[in-house]
Amino acid sequence: MKKFSFKIITTLWITLLITAVCTLSVSVLMIMSREAAEDKLCQTIVNVVESNADETEYSNQIFEVENDFIFYTGEIYCDLFSKNGEYIAGETPQSLIEAPVAATDSVVKTEFGGKSYYIYTSLLSYNKLEYEIDVLSGKIISYEADVAPSRSLEAAVYSETYFKNGISTSQAIDIALKHAGLTKEAATIISVSLPAYRDRQVFKIELTADKTSYNDIYIRGICPADAATQAFDAVGKSAFYIFPLFILLAAAGAYIISKRTVKPIEQITKSAQEITQGSDLSKRLEANSTSVEIAELSETFNEMLSRLQASFESERRFTSDASHELRTPLAVIKAECEYALSASADGDDKTQALESIEEQTDKMAALVSSLLAITRAEQGTKRFNLEKGNLSEITQEACNSFKTSKNITLTSDIQQGIEINMNSTLILQLIGNLISNAEKYGKENGSITVTLSEENGNARLTVRDDGIGISQEDLPKIWNRFYRADASRGETEGFGLGLALVKMICDIHSAECFAESEKDKYSLFTVIFKKI
Ligand code: ADP
Repeated sequence: MKKFSFKIITTLWITLLITAVCTLSVSVLMIMSREAAEDKLCQTIVNVVESNADETEYSNQIFEVENDFIFYTGEIYCDLFSKNGEYIAGETPQSLIEAPVAATDSVVKTEFGGKSYYIYTSLLSYNKLEYEIDVLSGKIISYEADVAPSRSLEAAVYSETYFKNGISTSQAIDIALKHAGLTKEAATIISVSLPAYRDRQVFKIELTADKTSYNDIYIRGICPADAATQAFDAVGKSAFYIFPLFILLAAAGAYIISKRTVKPIEQITKSAQEITQGSDLSKRLEANSTSVEIAELSETFNEMLSRLQASFESERRFTSDASHELRTPLAVIKAECEYALSASADGDDKTQALESIEEQTDKMAALVSSLLAITRAEQGTKRFNLEKGNLSEITQEACNSFKTSKNITLTSDIQQGIEINMNSTLILQLIGNLISNAEKYGKENGSITVTLSEENGNARLTVRDDGIGISQEDLPKIWNRFYRADASRGETEGFGLGLALVKMICDIHSAECFAESEKDKYSLFTVIFKKI
C-alpha cells in the first residue's frame, strides 16, 4: 500500500473536515435564514394590506383613500382595484399594474413578466354603515361605509329615546335602513349613540349587513420574491470568494501544526539513522522536545540504547574473556606437544608433557562446561518452567556432597519443609557453587556455615566462611563474568564464572542475592527466595 507522510494525511484530513463542516453549517444557516426571511416578508405584505384596508371608506357615496394609506414600503407595492379589475389607485410601476388581481387566502408566489412575486389580494366589502341623523328634523347629516371587522358583531342593546318635536331612536334607525335600502332583518345594528354634532344633536347609528349597495374593492400587495433573498445572495457570492481563502488558511494551519508535531519524530529518526550508520551505541537522542509524548519517546529510546550498549559491551567482554581463557591452556598444550615431539625429549619428559596436556585439557573441559551452563541459564531466563519443590531437601543434598582438602568443617542449620517454585538442578548448582567457593577461598582448618530459614514469608539461604574474604572494592564486581579478585588469581583454580551463574539462577527464580565480607575475616553470601 502506498504510504503518505503524516503531514500530508493530517493536512488533507483537517482541510476536508473544515471544508465539510463550514459548507454544511453555512448551507443550513442560509437555508434557515432564507426561509425565515421569506416568512417575514409574507407576513409584512399581509400586515401592510390589512392596515391599508382600514384606510379606505365610502363617505357620502364617494370612495375615499385616507392619507395614512401606504402605497409603497420596503419593496411592497399596495394598490387598489375595482371589482372589475380596473386600477383605482397606487404607485406601482406600469408593468406591475397588469399583474393578476384575484382574491387570495394567503400570500402566493406568482410568476409574472419573467420574475417571481409574492402577492396578497383581499376583496374589501364595505358593509359597515355609519349614519348621523339630526334628532329634530330626522335628516341624514352624513353617512359612510367602512370595511367591517371580520369578527362577528353582537347586536347592540340600546334604549329608546324620544325627542320632543323630533324623532325617536327607532325612527332614526328606520331612516338609516331605508337610506341603505335594507330591511330590519338584513341588518345588524351595532350601536346607537347620541354624540353632540357641532350645534345640533344627532343619532349616530352603526349597522352592518351581508350585502350593501357599495361596490367591493380589491386591495393588492405585491413584492418581488427576490427582495427577501437579495441579502443571502450577496452572502452566497461573498462565500464563493471567501471559502477558497478560508480552506487555504485551514490547510496552511493544518500543515504548520502537523509539521511542528512531526519535527521531533523526524529528529529522532535522523538520530537513529546516524546511530545505525555509525554503529555508535554511545550516541543519545536529544530529549528536549516540548511535547511530553515525544520527550518520553526519546527517553525510552535512550534507555533502550543504554541497555543495548551494556548488553553488547558485556557480550563483547564475555567473548574476549572466554577466548582468552581458552587460549592460555591451548598455548600450553601446543608448547608441550612441540616439546614432546622434539628430539631432545626423552621418555620421562614425554610423560610429563602428556600429564601437563591432560591437566590443561581438564581445565578447558571445565571452562567449556561452565560456559555451557551459563549459556543454558541465559537462554532459560525466558523459558524455564519452575515447579514447586522442597528447598530444605536440596540444601541438605548440597551440604552432603561437600568435599574438602583443607580440613574445613561444614555446619548446617536447615529449617525443614521450606518450599519454593524452582528448578531443582539449577538450585543445587547455585548452592553447590556458593559452598565450593567458601571451600576454595576458605583457610586450612576453617569452617563453613550453611543456614536456611523462613523469614518474613521468604526463604533465606546463607553460606558463610572464615576464609580470605573479599575487599570492599571487589565486592560489587564479583558477580561479573570472568571477574576474579586479584587475591584469587594464580592461587586458586577458577574462571570467574561461578557467581555469574549464581546471579543468573537467582534471576530465573526472581530471587535476590548479595555478599558481605571483611578481608581476611569472613565472607557471607545470602540468597532470598520468594516463598509460595
Ligand atoms: P571463581 O571462583 O571461579 O574465581 P566465581 O565467580 O565463583 O569465580 O567468584 C568470583 C570471584 O569472587 C572469585 O575469584 C573470588 O575472588 C571471589 N570470591 C567468590 N567467593 C568467595 C569467597 N567465599 N571468599 C572469598 N572470595 C570469594
